[in-house]
Amino acid sequence: MTQLEDAAAGRVTEAMRQVAEYENTDSETIRQQVAAGAVVIPKNINHAFIARGVGKGLKTKVNANIGTSPSHFDLSEELGKLDVAVAAGADAVMDLSTGGDLGEILTSIIAHSPVMIGTVPIYKTVSRVMAENRPCAEVTEDEIFDEIEFQAKTGVDFITVHCGITRQSIQVLEKSNRLMGIVSRGGSLMAEWIVKNHAENPLYEKFDRLLDICREYDVTLSLGDGLRPGTIFDAEDGAQITEMITLGQLAEQARNAGVQVMIEGPGHVPLSRIAGDMKMQKRICGGAPYYVLGPLPTDIAAGYDHITAAIGGAIAAASGADFLCYVTPAEHLSLPTIEDVREGVIASKIAAHIGDLEKGVASAWDRDRKMSEARNRFDWQTMFSVCIDPEKAKKMRLRSEDRDRDVCTMCGDMCALKTHRRAFDKK
Ligand code: SF4
Repeated sequence: MTQLEDAAAGRVTEAMRQVAEYENTDSETIRQQVAAGAVVIPKNINHAFIARGVGKGLKTKVNANIGTSPSHFDLSEELGKLDVAVAAGADAVMDLSTGGDLGEILTSIIAHSPVMIGTVPIYKTVSRVMAENRPCAEVTEDEIFDEIEFQAKTGVDFITVHCGITRQSIQVLEKSNRLMGIVSRGGSLMAEWIVKNHAENPLYEKFDRLLDICREYDVTLSLGDGLRPGTIFDAEDGAQITEMITLGQLAEQARNAGVQVMIEGPGHVPLSRIAGDMKMQKRICGGAPYYVLGPLPTDIAAGYDHITAAIGGAIAAASGADFLCYVTPAEHLSLPTIEDVREGVIASKIAAHIGDLEKGVASAWDRDRKMSEARNRFDWQTMFSVCIDPEKAKKMRLRSEDRDRDVCTMCGDMCALKTHRRAFDKK
């Protein structure tokens, strides 16, 4: 039984109660939102952890991608990234490993994780084929679905599958004059499979087979945007929109089959068009939760793309995005280190928080009020307990010559708060 099937049958599950508690709302409201498909609770029946929800009316969630690569694989380092991501506030982690013992890495990450775990199964399927020196496009339909079944059985809570890469969307892509073709790793692999095999995408053509696996283990589908723009110049072109329409149709099919589903979104999008993209997705995909990568409103900030993504992510969240996939400073450059992962999560948490303020999430406003009231009375301990990154704030405060005074070295004796009081406080 999936959370959606229970919700549709009027049953409130323990997971719904856990979500309601975290969101400061009642579990009946959560049940109704899950039944409507506006909220998903990614929680595999084989993975024990405190559930979080993604969707309408809830706090904006943040995902951190981790994982090995064929040229750099160290399980302890990945578990270190998982710990740092969770400590920094990540609500989800995706294992995108493609190097080393993939089965052992995934099983270890799921066993070690107190938050929902996602994957892109095609990565592992193709990694195995490449390890056998077989061309990627030679991967068989059964290999694709067997890997998904293995991961579902292992306890993966949500999977990214590129069902929207179809013969039709590829035709649209080929006619488009994109600056950068396909930038999605999984999307490019499925496109090559279609072109080389002169056949339809099995994840699209045999969508029911996918639904059967997901229903059995309550795996949430994250319908991947394989044709997302990799540059602001390709944003919202025919290929991207064609794919979004297909994903909207598949999302409805999934909900009708009792399978939880969310939609993935862009990518590189000019700032002024991010809000519209969010509204368009909600319209085309029947209000399904929206999981966006960034978005990144400029292409030039290599080394600082976590900042770019935070700018785009704040607008996206404020405009309806429900789930932000973080971007680290290492994006477009190299595999992230543990410190990159931490920086990326913090940046995305700031974006998510700003989005929650705009969504009117009461606890978000309470937090900002608590911070500013503490700042106004020089209550540094409360400021440290409320701020987004206590560790960093403490470190910066302690390096200040005025660390033992109430003011800080920014202004010292010229502290504006003090000056204000001297000027206006009635004796
Ligand atoms: S010293 Fe300046 S920066 Fe520091 S608390 Fe006072 S006004 Fe703020």
